[in-house]
Amino acid sequence: MQNHETKLKKIHYEYDNQEYIVINKCPHCNLDIHPNPESSHSLENGSFKIGVISLSCPSCKKHYFIFNDFGNEVVSSDKYLISIPKYGFNESSLIKNTSSTFQKLYIQSINSEILGYNDIAFFGFIKSLEILLKDIAILEHPESEDEILFCSLTTCLEQFHATNIHLFSKKLLEVLKSDYLHYQKSPDFYVYTELIKDCIDYFLLYLELMLKTITLNDDKKLLDRIKKEH
Ligand SMILES: [Zn+2]
Repeated sequence: MQNHETKLKKIHYEYDNQEYIVINKCPHCNLDIHPNPESSHSLENGSFKIGVISLSCPSCKKHYFIFNDFGNEVVSSDKYLISIPKYGFNESSLIKNTSSTFQKLYIQSINSEILGYNDIAFFGFIKSLEILLKDIAILEHPESEDEILFCSLTTCLEQFHATNIHLFSKKLLEVLKSDYLHYQKSPDFYVYTELIKDCIDYFLLYLELMLKTITLNDDKKLLDRIKKEH
């Protein structure tokens, strides 16, 4: 199976008696790794107390930096600032099969989440799911393209993903449909963000399987459509 971007997490990492928060993926190859620390540096001014850790990936051997803010008022989970290079996606990820509209929004959502912009990420993931569902629906029902493009996420699910809709609980459908302010205040907010991400992962795999099947069946008409779109 290909490596993909599921379960992106910030993890605690001990080095030189300091606890760094790092992401659990290599920003170069996107693999789940336990990075090798090489050195650490600190930078300080009146506002920031920054710890920079240099890491290397045991798989692709490339180097990267993770920046953490060790300022007094910074709580542990907010320490993580950035990675250089910035965490992104590469060719090996499942998203290479998707449309560029999906990729752009999904990458922005993932990056928002890494930076702690959870509310923006929440919107982004819902919209990403909608684009992905519609891209798949259009591949499966090219005759209904206009209808698919202009319907809502839940209508798209009901009408064009009837075989998958059992995966969506009533509650999740409500979340996808209704006002985010209602959920933003509840402890369920994070549970739903994770569920929406799981749905995206599921449909990424579904799309990959579908494309493989189309290729194996040598469905020329569909293959030409896909090439045109991506
Ligand atoms: Zn790597």
